[in-house]
Amino acid sequence: MSVRLSGKVDGFPDSVIRNMTMRNLRLHGPARAVNFAQGFPDFEPPPEIVVAAQAALDRGGDYHQYAITWGAPTLREAIAAYQSRVWDRPVDAENEISVVCGATEGMLAALFTTVEPGDEVIVFEPFYECYVPDTVLVGARPRFVPLRSPDWRFDPDELRSAFTARTKAIIVNTPHNPTGKVFSRAELQLIAKLCQERGVTPITDEIYEHLVYEGEHVSLATLPGMAERTITISGASKTYSVTGWRIGWLIAPPQLTAGIRKVHDYLTVGTAHPLQIAVAAGLRLPDAFYERYLSEYRERRDLLVAGLNARGFTVSSPAGAYYVMAGFSRLSQLDDEAFAEQLIETAGVATVPGSSFYAHPELGRKHVRFSFPKRLETIERGLEALAGIA
Ligand code: PLP
Repeated sequence: MSVRLSGKVDGFPDSVIRNMTMRNLRLHGPARAVNFAQGFPDFEPPPEIVVAAQAALDRGGDYHQYAITWGAPTLREAIAAYQSRVWDRPVDAENEISVVCGATEGMLAALFTTVEPGDEVIVFEPFYECYVPDTVLVGARPRFVPLRSPDWRFDPDELRSAFTARTKAIIVNTPHNPTGKVFSRAELQLIAKLCQERGVTPITDEIYEHLVYEGEHVSLATLPGMAERTITISGASKTYSVTGWRIGWLIAPPQLTAGIRKVHDYLTVGTAHPLQIAVAAGLRLPDAFYERYLSEYRERRDLLVAGLNARGFTVSSPAGAYYVMAGFSRLSQLDDEAFAEQLIETAGVATVPGSSFYAHPELGRKHVRFSFPKRLETIERGLEALAGIA
């Protein structure tokens, strides 16, 4: 019997990131393969939240059952308290917060809430790989605005002309995957102004909000007049090193939140109740936790950037997040896919071909992406394995 996939799904690429990881593991085994491809930590989460998860499971009772669809009150209250303490942003836990299965579901729920088939969504290119399939799933069309290396700025005129009569939403990811760009206040002010003038909803993905090495993290919703129209997405995956727990959240004004909650209910109903309780404990960690978190990532970043430059890559230090787009023109004439393949075969090092972050693949042909949520020993081992490449 022959089966047919829907046209939308048929056009989706397989996840290059997962493919690279799996191929490297198959060829070299877990003891030798170094995974700079997938952005998950190879170290443990803070013990406080693991203990809190165990305690929630031990307490049992209603924690084994569905939480309120849009999030356990304990977690929503902890998110509101954290927003106010850490980002000085007042948020109403009752009407403005929805807890979902990771920022990934959050983006899809935000788009389903705001976008009609045939609308356009502005996406900065390169982009985190889910944004384009998400836009296609809701029946909209992505419209791209390039971020150009080495400093990954956008051209204000290109952004202005990307806003058309059909534009419904713009996705802003800061700090940014895959470039490490941190959008400046001035850049966000321009985006805010255009959204206000054209009645467009900004959807911000701030999952790396605590990883800013240079400059400041500015949340678009905190600019004047923007809390009333912005959907802010974040989550626990990166900050608490629990990518497998699948806890994310959206903050939006009440009317948008009401829509988001309906979509979320039909998409997934809810996320794991005991883990929601544990993430609430994470959000209550003191400032010292976030300071140590950042300084440990800074050390990883500096080690990787210096090591890659010493091995002939061209890498500038990312201002945020935990990725670098490494230029390899000085090392090889191959294209990005063949070069990433060579790194797997000869060094046991998995990276991601740069073109997989672009709708216009030619723009990424001379880069591969390294992610560095890894122990220093892992980074050192990866750099040693790359010594032969030069
Ligand atoms: N948003 C960005 C920009 C990411 O890089 C990632 C993971 O790599 C996610 C969202 C996924 O977040 P979550 O695990 O909360 O779904």
